[in-house]
Amino acid sequence: MLDEILTSVETLKGSMTEALIRLCRIPAISPHNGGTGEDTKILELAKLIDDLGLKDITIRIEHVDDEKAPSGRRPSLFLEYPGKKAQRLCILSHIDVVPEGDRTLWTLDPFSPEVRGSRIYGRGVSDNGTCLVSSLFALKALQDAGVKPEYTVLLAFVADEEMGSHYGLEPLLERGDIFRPDDLVVVPDSGNDAGDFIEIAEKAMWKLSFTVTGKQVHASLPHRGINACRAANILAYEVDEALHRTFTQRNDAFDPPFSTFEPTRRFANVPATNIIPGRERFEFDCRVLPEVSLDDAFDVVESVRLDVERRTGAKIDLDIDRTDAAPVTSPDAEVCRLLIGSVKAVMGIEPHTGGVGGGTFAAIFRRKGIPAVVWSQECGGVAHQPDEYTEICYLVNNAKVFALMMAGK
Ligand SMILES: [Zn+2]
Repeated sequence: MLDEILTSVETLKGSMTEALIRLCRIPAISPHNGGTGEDTKILELAKLIDDLGLKDITIRIEHVDDEKAPSGRRPSLFLEYPGKKAQRLCILSHIDVVPEGDRTLWTLDPFSPEVRGSRIYGRGVSDNGTCLVSSLFALKALQDAGVKPEYTVLLAFVADEEMGSHYGLEPLLERGDIFRPDDLVVVPDSGNDAGDFIEIAEKAMWKLSFTVTGKQVHASLPHRGINACRAANILAYEVDEALHRTFTQRNDAFDPPFSTFEPTRRFANVPATNIIPGRERFEFDCRVLPEVSLDDAFDVVESVRLDVERRTGAKIDLDIDRTDAAPVTSPDAEVCRLLIGSVKAVMGIEPHTGGVGGGTFAAIFRRKGIPAVVWSQECGGVAHQPDEYTEICYLVNNAKVFALMMAGK
């Protein structure tokens, strides 16, 4: 039966390629990022599903209100197909994409996807188009092979992942009638070319925004002002140094295996060299291991802040955006064991489990007590880039893994 399923997937390679190109012709960019949302792409997906002639499926489109969207709402599509067990295997992909960015860096029209050699190029073909198509055709392959899935299959094609899931998974999960606590959840939205990494944990995300207020004066008379640029330099250096000195914990399950505290963004200050700035703003992006207390980290930053205020005379305000680490999915969870078995059978490799800097859909499930795993075979470093591409054989391999999971293999 295993061979029949795998062969059935193989025969769909051409149809998968066509389906991916068909869907990625339609930009589904957030209305909050210059686009028109997912309405057109969801309709095309519904037509594609119709064209596949899948039997006994139930389709449901759920909407979340968004006044910025042309239709006033954002659609997500759910496809369910009964298996031997009522318990469901949920494979979630997102239908939205990021904008093309600088158009001059592309060698093709980002929304006219092209096959070149073994690859398909275009915006969204990898993130998250490959697995979206693979999950759908995995079910098609099972039906073609006449195999009834072990688990009831729920395929979710969800809006608004790229801008934070506020009009997608987050409110949908709150509704309580779409997902269930015993669902086995796979989020194929991150992975590597080897397909050997299963993400089961994400770090906490901690964003620090500093505003340093001094007193602006002519640069020739610094003694009459308070130089916010100097105070900001001291502050940025000392916060950086204190966080790294204090939080040296290692956890080899994560890549990288330590917390990261990175000064990243610096806002524009004055328009000329001969002005001593009276105001500086800058930010840190921190990804913190679950074993580090964010309250302790705050205390460290706070003591530096007060010290630099006292020494420089500048006033320093701190804004924090804090997302605590979600609970870790156990490597022994049923969904994880099922995935490991299917990856082994298809790819002939032993995948390993671990954590990353975050964040995906999976954390939202984990916070609700639903164990979720993140896995896919995916082209490294192409997501959100110009000339995004995917390997056609990854479409096939991902579909094989999903088909075996559905079959409980
Ligand atoms: Zn994605």
